[in-house]
Amino acid sequence: MLQQTSVEQVQEVFEEFVEKFPDPESVVAVSEKEITEEIEPLGSQKRTKYFRKASHDIIEQHGGNVPDEQSELLDLHGVGEYTAASVLAHAHGKDAVAVDTNVARVLSRVFGLDAADEPSAAENWDLAERSAPAGRCSDYLHALIDFGSAVCTASNPKCSDCPLADLCEYHEQGA
Ligand code: SF4
Repeated sequence: MLQQTSVEQVQEVFEEFVEKFPDPESVVAVSEKEITEEIEPLGSQKRTKYFRKASHDIIEQHGGNVPDEQSELLDLHGVGEYTAASVLAHAHGKDAVAVDTNVARVLSRVFGLDAADEPSAAENWDLAERSAPAGRCSDYLHALIDFGSAVCTASNPKCSDCPLADLCEYHEQGA
């Protein structure tokens, strides 16, 4: 749901959606139209097709259970590196990192990388992997996402109140 969509927009529909469609079986049991109506505020018909096709794949190939291997997740329709890593970290509690805009911004600023705000940059993924605490990847990612959204914001970061200011390359350079 978060593909090219803000957290605020997703929050409007997420809880009701997962209550109505808690598993792959419930997604394929209704028409495409019904799914589309539920997530209409998010736009993009593609989302409905992805949900339904991936749900079919999960039922047919994995007995209705969301796989916990990266290669199997990447085989699902519409699932890319970010979604696969997010599922591994947040749903399965595995050591995996998913770099979104907030994570990329915080890490690249603190460690002085060139790839600020570029979630697809390999150096951000590499740094996220090396800095994530084993067994706590989900907590680590949530913390970075919240921190990037509340403190280390894209414009006007709150450096004067930031607990990382003494460590931060971006702040050090007075950027
Ligand atoms: S000091 Fe500023 S730029 Fe550095 S992490 Fe904190 S808020 Fe972000």
